[in-house]
Amino acid sequence: MTGKILIVDALATNRIVLKARLTAAFYEVLQAGSGAEAATVARDARPDLLLLGGALPDIGVGELVTALAEGCGPDCVLPTVVALLPDDAAAQRADALAGGASDVISRPVDHRYLLARLRALLRQRHLDADLGVPAATADALGFAEEPCAFRPPARLTVMAGTAARAHTLRQRLAPALPDVTCTFAEDGTRAMAALRRGTDAVLLEVGETNLDTAPALLAELQTAPATRHARIVVLLDRAAADLAVPLLDMGASEVLPTPVDDRELTLRISAQIAHKTRADVLRGRLESGLQAAVIDPLTGLYNRRYGLSFLRRILAQPQGGGGLCAVMVADLDHFKAINDGFGHAAGDRVLAQVSARMRANLPAGAIIARLGGEEFVIVVPDTSPDAARRLAGTICRHVREKPVTMPGGAGAVAVTVSIGVTLALPDPAAGPAQAEALLAEADRALYASKSGGRNTVTFRCRPAA
Ligand code: GH3
Ligand code: MG
Ligand code: MG
Repeated sequence: MTGKILIVDALATNRIVLKARLTAAFYEVLQAGSGAEAATVARDARPDLLLLGGALPDIGVGELVTALAEGCGPDCVLPTVVALLPDDAAAQRADALAGGASDVISRPVDHRYLLARLRALLRQRHLDADLGVPAATADALGFAEEPCAFRPPARLTVMAGTAARAHTLRQRLAPALPDVTCTFAEDGTRAMAALRRGTDAVLLEVGETNLDTAPALLAELQTAPATRHARIVVLLDRAAADLAVPLLDMGASEVLPTPVDDRELTLRISAQIAHKTRADVLRGRLESGLQAAVIDPLTGLYNRRYGLSFLRRILAQPQGGGGLCAVMVADLDHFKAINDGFGHAAGDRVLAQVSARMRANLPAGAIIARLGGEEFVIVVPDTSPDAARRLAGTICRHVREKPVTMPGGAGAVAVTVSIGVTLALPDPAAGPAQAEALLAEADRALYASKSGGRNTVTFRCRPAA
């Protein structure tokens, strides 16, 4: 795993030891001896991660995170901040998390665990970068905040080796997480059924009774559709500390040796949930962006780009059973007259309504796309000449049968469509040329419909190529 790490520690000997370990693990390593120096180096060198080796003489973790944010432009992503603090410094550890550290790792440092933790944090950072999620530190400070649509309360599922343990843990945590719906799942085997409706985070306690089953459960949580984006926080019995590194490498967001201070645990869980919720919003935005790239906004039909690429894809697949692919080009008749007589907005309404009627008549597997203006392409895979003829006739009739009503009692507009149809057996060897040839043929058929009086279907079958 590549990454640039800035070690911040007042003691040069501590920095040297850490630097040797991290360099051996192929990280690029920078150093700073104080908070002020760290802020300057971070601004200039943009490290991925800051590793705070101990208490800094000149600055607290929260202040350092604020200083980092101030040195960071609006589009810059803050480094992930990790503090190394002793187990018994409960207040300091919780303050570091509350101040914006993404993790606190216990001192003295178990270097295998440290490297596994850094791998997990940097992996998450790379995933977030793909989605455009600002660093957890930015979330903690309220930067990059933006209005969010209403969301139901976040869900945390507590799991443990026995139902009683899970119940106890839930009772302990729920009061400190008032905005989270906290449920518990009985044990590993029944856990997945309980999670069918999904969860934002899972707190999994791993102890004597579920040591053997925990890795398989973690793997299942990571792949099941309802939970694969959930953050998984593992509470690990100290006697099983060897499992920490494999669990982190398998995708656990955090593995914490028990016992853990309650404030620290709730801060960690809240941070994981906040991060996951934000990633969900961004993932949704990405998906709707992709949707926007293939949908025509006026009619809700596929756009030209998608329609043509769909046709090419269908023709590139050999059809078993001799099924033909029908291509139809449909064009509204005298549409200009509708615009001229009723106005452009009325024309838009006619386009939207007629599009919906045409789409409603398509069989499963067929698509309709708006090629542009008042022209559409319909692609029907695996069909026959009779079925294609019937379909084109039905579409023509459904458009003609009912005039499109205008809002506010402005009357109704009669509309008709002309269609040109052709069919061919998909020929993968022909490449994209077959799609072009079929479209040209359907266009010629459409032209014949227009010159034959409009409001009709013309059928042309190309001779086999
Ligand atoms: P034909 O029967 O021969 O197809 O005649 P037509 O009037 O339908 O064809 P023509 O190509 O002469 O005119 C098409 C019109 O469609 C012209 C253009 O202004 C209009 N148009 C194209 N896109 C849109 C749109 O998105 N909304 C509206 N309201 N009109 C559009
Ligand atoms: Mg037209
Ligand atoms: Mg036209």
